[in-house]
Amino acid sequence: MLAGVFHALNDLRVEEVPTPKIKTPNDVLIEVKACGLCGTDPGIIEGRRPTAVPPPFIIGHEYAGVVVDVGSKVESVKPEDHVVVRPTIPCQKCYYCRIGSPSLCRSYLDIGVDMGDGGFAEYSLIPENNAYKIPEYMKWKDAVLVEPLSIVLNGLRLAQMRTGDIVVVLGTGPIGLNWTAVAKRSGAGKVIISEPNDIRRSRADKIGADVCINPLKENPVEIVRDLTDGVGANIVVEAAGISATYEQAFEMTSYAGRIVFFALPPAEFKIQISPHDIVRNEKLIVGNWVNYFTFPAAITSIQNGILPSDILFTDELPLSELTKAMELHKQGKSAKILIKPSISA
Ligand SMILES: [Zn+2]
Ligand SMILES: [Zn+2]
Repeated sequence: MLAGVFHALNDLRVEEVPTPKIKTPNDVLIEVKACGLCGTDPGIIEGRRPTAVPPPFIIGHEYAGVVVDVGSKVESVKPEDHVVVRPTIPCQKCYYCRIGSPSLCRSYLDIGVDMGDGGFAEYSLIPENNAYKIPEYMKWKDAVLVEPLSIVLNGLRLAQMRTGDIVVVLGTGPIGLNWTAVAKRSGAGKVIISEPNDIRRSRADKIGADVCINPLKENPVEIVRDLTDGVGANIVVEAAGISATYEQAFEMTSYAGRIVFFALPPAEFKIQISPHDIVRNEKLIVGNWVNYFTFPAAITSIQNGILPSDILFTDELPLSELTKAMELHKQGKSAKILIKPSISA
Protein backbone atom coordinates (compact mmCIF):
# COMPACT_ATOMS: atom_id res chain seq x y z
CA MET A 1 0.00 0.00 0.00
CA LEU A 2 0.98 3.65 -0.35
CA ALA A 3 1.99 5.50 2.84
CA GLY A 4 3.63 8.72 4.03
CA VAL A 5 6.72 7.55 5.91
CA PHE A 6 8.77 9.79 8.19
CA HIS A 7 12.33 8.53 7.56
CA ALA A 8 14.51 11.15 9.26
CA LEU A 9 14.53 14.89 9.89
CA ASN A 10 13.37 16.68 6.74
CA ASP A 11 12.90 13.35 5.02
CA LEU A 12 9.27 12.40 4.38
CA ARG A 13 8.64 9.91 1.60
CA VAL A 14 5.43 8.67 0.07
CA GLU A 15 6.24 5.09 -0.81
CA GLU A 16 4.99 1.51 -1.09
CA VAL A 17 5.04 -0.42 2.22
CA PRO A 18 3.53 -3.78 3.21
CA THR A 19 -0.21 -3.57 4.02
CA PRO A 20 -0.67 -4.24 7.75
CA LYS A 21 -2.49 -7.38 8.94
CA ILE A 22 -4.25 -8.21 12.23
CA LYS A 23 -1.53 -9.21 14.73
CA THR A 24 -3.24 -9.37 18.13
CA PRO A 25 -6.80 -10.28 19.25
CA ASN A 26 -7.50 -6.60 19.98
CA ASP A 27 -6.40 -5.16 16.62
CA VAL A 28 -8.66 -3.32 14.21
CA LEU A 29 -7.63 -2.85 10.58
CA ILE A 30 -9.17 0.14 8.84
CA GLU A 31 -9.14 1.34 5.28
CA VAL A 32 -8.30 5.03 5.65
CA LYS A 33 -10.76 7.27 3.81
CA ALA A 34 -9.33 10.65 4.83
CA CYS A 35 -6.65 12.14 7.06
CA GLY A 36 -6.34 15.82 8.00
CA LEU A 37 -2.99 17.57 7.88
CA CYS A 38 -2.16 19.11 11.26
CA GLY A 39 0.53 21.63 12.26
CA THR A 40 2.08 18.79 14.27
CA ASP A 41 2.88 16.89 11.04
CA PRO A 42 5.45 19.35 9.63
CA GLY A 43 6.61 19.76 13.26
CA ILE A 44 7.55 16.07 13.32
CA ILE A 45 9.36 16.21 9.98
CA GLU A 46 11.28 19.35 10.93
CA GLY A 47 12.15 18.16 14.43
CA ARG A 48 10.05 20.59 16.48
CA ARG A 49 7.97 17.69 17.78
CA PRO A 50 10.29 14.97 19.09
CA THR A 51 8.87 11.47 18.61
CA ALA A 52 8.90 8.73 21.26
CA VAL A 53 9.81 6.01 18.77
CA PRO A 54 12.67 6.69 16.33
CA PRO A 55 11.74 6.79 12.61
CA PRO A 56 10.96 5.33 10.15
CA PHE A 57 7.20 5.18 10.71
CA ILE A 58 3.94 6.28 9.06
CA ILE A 59 2.62 9.62 10.34
CA GLY A 60 -0.90 11.14 10.31
CA HIS A 61 -3.18 11.30 13.35
CA GLU A 62 -6.47 12.99 12.31
CA TYR A 63 -8.12 10.20 10.37
CA ALA A 64 -11.18 8.11 9.75
CA GLY A 65 -12.07 5.09 7.68
CA VAL A 66 -13.94 1.82 7.28
CA VAL A 67 -13.18 -1.27 9.36
CA VAL A 68 -12.03 -4.11 7.10
CA ASP A 69 -10.85 -6.72 9.61
CA VAL A 70 -10.86 -7.25 13.40
CA GLY A 71 -9.00 -9.47 15.88
CA SER A 72 -10.77 -12.35 17.65
CA LYS A 73 -11.49 -10.40 20.86
CA VAL A 74 -12.77 -7.17 19.29
CA GLU A 75 -16.36 -6.46 20.34
CA SER A 76 -17.13 -2.77 19.83
CA VAL A 77 -16.64 -2.56 16.07
CA LYS A 78 -17.01 -4.94 13.12
CA PRO A 79 -16.10 -4.93 9.42
CA GLU A 80 -17.88 -2.19 7.41
CA ASP A 81 -18.33 0.06 10.46
CA HIS A 82 -17.20 3.64 9.98
CA VAL A 83 -14.77 4.83 12.64
CA VAL A 84 -12.62 7.78 13.66
CA VAL A 85 -9.30 7.15 15.34
CA ARG A 86 -8.32 8.53 18.71
CA PRO A 87 -4.52 8.66 18.46
CA THR A 88 -3.63 8.67 22.17
CA ILE A 89 -2.43 5.46 23.83
CA PRO A 90 -1.81 6.16 27.55
CA CYS A 91 0.29 3.80 29.69
CA GLN A 92 -2.55 3.17 32.22
CA LYS A 93 0.06 2.73 34.98
CA CYS A 94 1.39 6.18 35.88
CA TYR A 95 -0.01 8.58 38.50
CA TYR A 96 -2.01 10.63 35.96
CA CYS A 97 -3.51 7.59 34.27
CA ARG A 98 -4.61 6.39 37.71
CA ILE A 99 -6.32 9.64 38.67
CA GLY A 100 -8.34 9.78 35.44
CA SER A 101 -6.14 12.20 33.47
CA PRO A 102 -4.64 9.91 30.84
CA SER A 103 -3.91 12.85 28.52
CA LEU A 104 -1.30 13.96 31.04
CA CYS A 105 0.25 10.48 31.07
CA ARG A 106 4.00 10.75 31.38
CA SER A 107 4.62 8.18 28.69
CA TYR A 108 1.65 8.12 26.38
CA LEU A 109 2.16 7.46 22.69
CA ASP A 110 0.24 9.11 19.90
CA ILE A 111 -0.49 6.98 16.84
CA GLY A 112 1.00 8.76 13.81
CA VAL A 113 2.93 11.23 15.97
CA ASP A 114 5.09 9.29 18.43
CA MET A 115 4.95 6.01 16.56
CA GLY A 116 3.40 4.36 13.46
CA ASP A 117 0.99 3.20 11.91
CA GLY A 118 -0.57 6.56 11.25
CA GLY A 119 -3.30 7.71 8.92
CA PHE A 120 -1.35 8.93 5.90
CA ALA A 121 -1.73 5.46 4.44
CA GLU A 122 -4.24 3.33 2.61
CA TYR A 123 -4.67 1.08 5.66
CA SER A 124 -3.96 1.50 9.37
CA LEU A 125 -3.82 -1.06 12.18
CA ILE A 126 -5.01 0.31 15.54
CA PRO A 127 -6.03 -1.06 18.96
CA GLU A 128 -9.79 -1.50 19.44
CA ASN A 129 -9.68 1.05 22.25
CA ASN A 130 -8.71 3.76 19.78
CA ALA A 131 -11.56 3.16 17.32
CA TYR A 132 -14.73 5.23 17.78
CA LYS A 133 -17.80 4.34 15.74
CA ILE A 134 -19.40 7.15 13.75
CA PRO A 135 -22.65 7.18 11.77
CA GLU A 136 -22.35 6.11 8.13
CA TYR A 137 -23.85 9.36 6.89
CA MET A 138 -21.03 11.44 8.42
CA LYS A 139 -18.84 12.78 5.62
CA TRP A 140 -15.16 11.79 5.83
CA LYS A 141 -14.26 15.44 5.63
CA ASP A 142 -16.28 16.02 8.81
CA ALA A 143 -15.11 12.86 10.55
CA VAL A 144 -11.42 13.80 10.47
CA LEU A 145 -12.27 16.95 12.42
CA VAL A 146 -13.35 14.95 15.47
CA GLU A 147 -9.79 14.72 16.87
CA PRO A 148 -8.89 18.43 16.67
CA LEU A 149 -12.41 19.35 17.83
CA SER A 150 -12.05 17.14 20.92
CA ILE A 151 -9.07 19.29 21.94
CA VAL A 152 -10.94 22.56 21.37
CA LEU A 153 -13.94 21.28 23.36
CA ASN A 154 -11.55 20.51 26.21
CA GLY A 155 -10.29 24.10 26.03
CA LEU A 156 -13.84 25.46 26.02
CA ARG A 157 -14.58 23.52 29.21
CA LEU A 158 -11.35 24.60 30.90
CA ALA A 159 -12.02 28.23 29.97
CA GLN A 160 -15.54 27.97 31.41
CA MET A 161 -17.09 29.64 28.39
CA ARG A 162 -20.54 31.09 29.06
CA THR A 163 -23.24 32.19 26.66
CA GLY A 164 -22.65 35.77 25.63
CA ASP A 165 -18.92 35.81 26.37
CA ILE A 166 -16.69 37.95 24.16
CA VAL A 167 -14.04 35.59 22.73
CA VAL A 168 -10.86 36.67 20.95
CA VAL A 169 -8.79 34.24 18.89
CA LEU A 170 -5.22 35.34 18.18
CA GLY A 171 -4.03 33.41 15.14
CA THR A 172 -6.45 31.57 12.88
CA GLY A 173 -4.44 28.69 11.54
CA PRO A 174 -6.42 25.41 11.45
CA ILE A 175 -6.91 25.28 15.23
CA GLY A 176 -7.70 28.99 15.58
CA LEU A 177 -10.38 28.57 12.90
CA ASN A 178 -11.69 25.58 14.80
CA TRP A 179 -11.87 27.68 18.01
CA THR A 180 -13.58 30.52 16.11
CA ALA A 181 -16.31 28.27 14.71
CA VAL A 182 -16.87 26.40 17.97
CA ALA A 183 -16.99 29.53 20.17
CA LYS A 184 -19.47 31.15 17.79
CA ARG A 185 -21.72 28.10 17.64
CA SER A 186 -21.47 27.51 21.40
CA GLY A 187 -23.03 30.84 22.24
CA ALA A 188 -20.23 33.41 22.29
CA GLY A 189 -21.65 36.94 22.22
CA LYS A 190 -18.98 38.06 19.82
CA VAL A 191 -15.94 36.39 18.30
CA ILE A 192 -13.07 38.67 17.35
CA ILE A 193 -10.04 37.29 15.53
CA SER A 194 -6.61 38.66 14.68
CA GLU A 195 -4.61 37.07 11.87
CA PRO A 196 -2.01 38.54 9.47
CA ASN A 197 -2.44 35.89 6.72
CA ASP A 198 -5.13 37.00 4.22
CA ILE A 199 -6.33 33.49 3.34
CA ARG A 200 -6.71 32.48 6.96
CA ARG A 201 -8.34 35.76 7.95
CA SER A 202 -10.94 35.48 5.21
CA ARG A 203 -11.69 31.88 6.25
CA ALA A 204 -12.24 33.10 9.81
CA ASP A 205 -14.67 35.68 8.47
CA LYS A 206 -16.56 32.97 6.55
CA ILE A 207 -16.58 30.56 9.47
CA GLY A 208 -18.33 33.00 11.79
CA ALA A 209 -15.95 35.63 13.23
CA ASP A 210 -17.81 38.88 13.91
CA VAL A 211 -14.72 41.07 13.66
CA CYS A 212 -11.51 40.25 11.75
CA ILE A 213 -8.37 42.22 12.56
CA ASN A 214 -5.23 42.38 10.45
CA PRO A 215 -2.52 42.92 13.11
CA LEU A 216 -0.10 44.19 10.47
CA LYS A 217 -2.38 47.19 9.89
CA GLU A 218 -4.38 47.60 13.10
CA ASN A 219 -3.79 47.33 16.84
CA PRO A 220 -5.74 44.31 18.13
CA VAL A 221 -5.63 45.46 21.78
CA GLU A 222 -7.14 48.87 20.96
CA ILE A 223 -9.85 47.35 18.79
CA VAL A 224 -10.87 44.80 21.44
CA ARG A 225 -10.99 47.54 24.08
CA ASP A 226 -13.05 49.79 21.79
CA LEU A 227 -15.51 47.01 21.05
CA THR A 228 -15.98 46.20 24.75
CA ASP A 229 -16.26 49.70 26.26
CA GLY A 230 -12.74 49.35 27.59
CA VAL A 231 -13.58 46.14 29.50
CA GLY A 232 -11.71 43.62 27.36
CA ALA A 233 -12.59 40.09 26.30
CA ASN A 234 -13.88 37.36 28.62
CA ILE A 235 -11.79 34.73 26.86
CA VAL A 236 -8.66 35.19 24.75
CA VAL A 237 -7.27 32.18 22.90
CA GLU A 238 -3.57 32.42 22.06
CA ALA A 239 -3.10 30.21 19.00
CA ALA A 240 -0.06 31.80 17.37
CA GLY A 241 2.73 31.09 19.86
CA ILE A 242 4.75 34.30 19.46
CA SER A 243 5.73 36.91 22.08
CA ALA A 244 3.55 39.65 20.58
CA THR A 245 0.32 37.65 20.81
CA TYR A 246 1.01 36.52 24.39
CA GLU A 247 1.45 40.17 25.36
CA GLN A 248 -1.73 41.15 23.52
CA ALA A 249 -3.62 38.35 25.27
CA PHE A 250 -2.83 39.71 28.74
CA GLU A 251 -3.56 43.29 27.68
CA MET A 252 -6.94 42.57 26.10
CA THR A 253 -8.36 40.14 28.68
CA SER A 254 -11.01 41.55 31.01
CA TYR A 255 -10.76 41.30 34.79
CA ALA A 256 -11.70 37.73 35.75
CA GLY A 257 -11.12 36.82 32.11
CA ARG A 258 -9.55 33.56 30.95
CA ILE A 259 -6.50 33.30 28.73
CA VAL A 260 -6.23 30.02 26.86
CA PHE A 261 -2.73 29.01 25.81
CA PHE A 262 -3.22 26.75 22.81
CA ALA A 263 -0.10 27.15 20.67
CA LEU A 264 2.76 24.89 21.72
CA PRO A 265 6.06 26.79 21.41
CA PRO A 266 9.37 24.99 22.04
CA ALA A 267 10.13 24.25 25.73
CA GLU A 268 12.89 26.88 25.86
CA PHE A 269 10.57 29.70 24.69
CA LYS A 270 9.71 32.08 27.57
CA ILE A 271 7.41 35.08 27.98
CA GLN A 272 7.25 37.82 30.59
CA ILE A 273 4.11 37.96 32.68
CA SER A 274 2.96 40.42 35.31
CA PRO A 275 1.87 38.63 38.52
CA HIS A 276 0.33 41.96 39.55
CA ASP A 277 -2.02 41.88 36.54
CA ILE A 278 -3.01 38.29 37.24
CA VAL A 279 -3.59 38.71 40.98
CA ARG A 280 -5.14 42.17 41.05
CA ASN A 281 -7.43 41.41 38.11
CA GLU A 282 -8.11 37.74 38.82
CA LYS A 283 -7.07 36.57 35.37
CA LEU A 284 -7.01 32.84 34.81
CA ILE A 285 -4.47 31.19 32.51
CA VAL A 286 -5.54 27.87 31.04
CA GLY A 287 -3.30 25.41 29.19
CA ASN A 288 -5.27 23.60 26.48
CA TRP A 289 -3.93 20.13 25.70
CA VAL A 290 -5.58 16.99 24.34
CA ASN A 291 -8.26 15.24 26.37
CA TYR A 292 -9.93 12.25 24.91
CA PHE A 293 -12.89 12.29 27.26
CA THR A 294 -14.30 14.96 24.94
CA PHE A 295 -14.15 12.56 21.94
CA PRO A 296 -17.80 11.41 22.25
CA ALA A 297 -18.96 15.05 22.55
CA ALA A 298 -16.84 15.93 19.52
CA ILE A 299 -18.57 13.20 17.49
CA THR A 300 -22.07 14.41 18.40
CA SER A 301 -21.08 18.06 17.84
CA ILE A 302 -19.73 17.22 14.39
CA GLN A 303 -23.04 15.46 13.64
CA ASN A 304 -24.75 18.72 14.58
CA GLY A 305 -22.62 20.67 12.14
CA ILE A 306 -20.52 22.61 14.64
CA LEU A 307 -17.59 22.76 12.19
CA PRO A 308 -18.28 23.71 8.58
CA SER A 309 -15.67 21.46 6.93
CA ASP A 310 -16.21 23.10 3.52
CA ILE A 311 -14.85 26.36 4.92
CA LEU A 312 -12.16 24.83 7.10
CA PHE A 313 -10.58 22.74 4.34
CA THR A 314 -9.05 24.81 1.57
CA ASP A 315 -7.42 21.91 -0.26
CA GLU A 316 -8.02 18.22 -0.92
CA LEU A 317 -5.05 16.23 -2.17
CA PRO A 318 -4.26 12.58 -2.91
CA LEU A 319 -1.86 10.75 -0.59
CA SER A 320 0.77 10.76 -3.35
CA GLU A 321 0.98 14.55 -2.95
CA LEU A 322 1.55 14.57 0.80
CA THR A 323 4.92 16.35 0.54
CA LYS A 324 3.32 19.04 -1.63
CA ALA A 325 0.59 19.41 1.02
CA MET A 326 3.25 19.95 3.71
CA GLU A 327 4.79 22.68 1.57
CA LEU A 328 1.42 24.39 1.05
CA HIS A 329 0.80 24.32 4.79
CA LYS A 330 4.24 25.76 5.55
CA GLN A 331 3.86 28.58 3.07
CA GLY A 332 0.54 29.53 4.68
CA LYS A 333 -1.24 29.09 1.36
CA SER A 334 -3.96 26.96 2.89
CA ALA A 335 -6.22 26.81 5.93
CA LYS A 336 -6.57 23.07 6.46
CA ILE A 337 -5.64 20.32 4.01
CA LEU A 338 -7.43 17.00 3.58
CA ILE A 339 -5.47 13.99 2.34
CA LYS A 340 -7.44 11.22 0.66
CA PRO A 341 -5.69 7.91 -0.03
CA SER A 342 -8.47 6.84 -2.41
CA ILE A 343 -8.19 9.74 -4.89
CA SER A 344 -5.41 9.79 -7.47
CA ALA A 345 -3.24 12.70 -8.57
ZN1 LIG B 1 -3.34 17.34 15.23
ZN1 LIG C 1 0.23 6.92 32.10
